[in-house]
Amino acid sequence: MFLPRLLALFLCTAATLNAQVSGSPLKIEVRRALPAEDEPKPALPDTATLPRVLPANRKSVYSRCETALKLIAITFDDGPDPVLTPRLLDLLKQRGIHATFFLVGKNVAAFPEVVSRIVAEGHEVANHSWSHPLFTQLGPESVESQLRRTHDAIVKACGTAPLLYRPPYGAVRISQRTRIEKTFGYPAILWDVDPQDWKHPRSAQKVYDSIHSQTRPGSIILCHDIHETTIAAMPSTLDDLTARGYRFATVTQLIAFTTPPEIMGPPAPSPASTTPANLTVPPSSGVRDDSVKSKTVDVKQEKALQSP
Ligand SMILES: [Zn+2]
Repeated sequence: MFLPRLLALFLCTAATLNAQVSGSPLKIEVRRALPAEDEPKPALPDTATLPRVLPANRKSVYSRCETALKLIAITFDDGPDPVLTPRLLDLLKQRGIHATFFLVGKNVAAFPEVVSRIVAEGHEVANHSWSHPLFTQLGPESVESQLRRTHDAIVKACGTAPLLYRPPYGAVRISQRTRIEKTFGYPAILWDVDPQDWKHPRSAQKVYDSIHSQTRPGSIILCHDIHETTIAAMPSTLDDLTARGYRFATVTQLIAFTTPPEIMGPPAPSPASTTPANLTVPPSSGVRDDSVKSKTVDVKQEKALQSP
């Protein structure tokens, strides 16, 4: 018995709404305003314009960077590979994405033309030791030699000095890390997204799924450009992250963008006294080391990590 009344009420309401929509622009304004209030979307930086110099007040070690923006860095370790790295570079070029390559020195010496292409296409090159040993089992001279030979090989191959290193297996003692930073000026770069793409058998789908679920603003993604499955996973992985609003920076760009201006300490130096952009050993003053300190000395990780 209420049905006719309900129907009448519905028709009346619909007619009123209709009149409001057609008769007043207010309705349209409200509909525009709602998503902006619910989902504030701060502008992502244009990665082409981000600086490629480490700030003096950077930290000593990073596994990710603090930011609310969907800015991330994807990294590829253990190359260059003469076949797979060029294929990866094609995929990155098609998408306008810049990555960071942690290179193994002996591969740099074997395939310098690939290193040259990596840099020519706007990617960052970084130091991943000469022969991928476990640093925690080496003395200080051996560690220095591993990094020095690789540093020099990269400069010889492409003319660009690396600013960062990643210890093989992510394992380095604090004393070693301190010495490396003092000698080379490198911060240690770890990761917070690990698709374990080096595990075999490991499908491209699993690599995609891991990266899809683990990535968040400021993430540093660990991959290896020496495995077929990693390269096979990249088109869908990169397109998924891009579609979800993520933008890719190199690791140095990500650090530079997310490092807050120095609050303590002396006033900002005048342009005449700033560190030249091409100096490979930044000043160590102001270096901070806090949140991820324990991760680098977690030598227990070494047994679990058997990436090449
Ligand atoms: Zn490695």
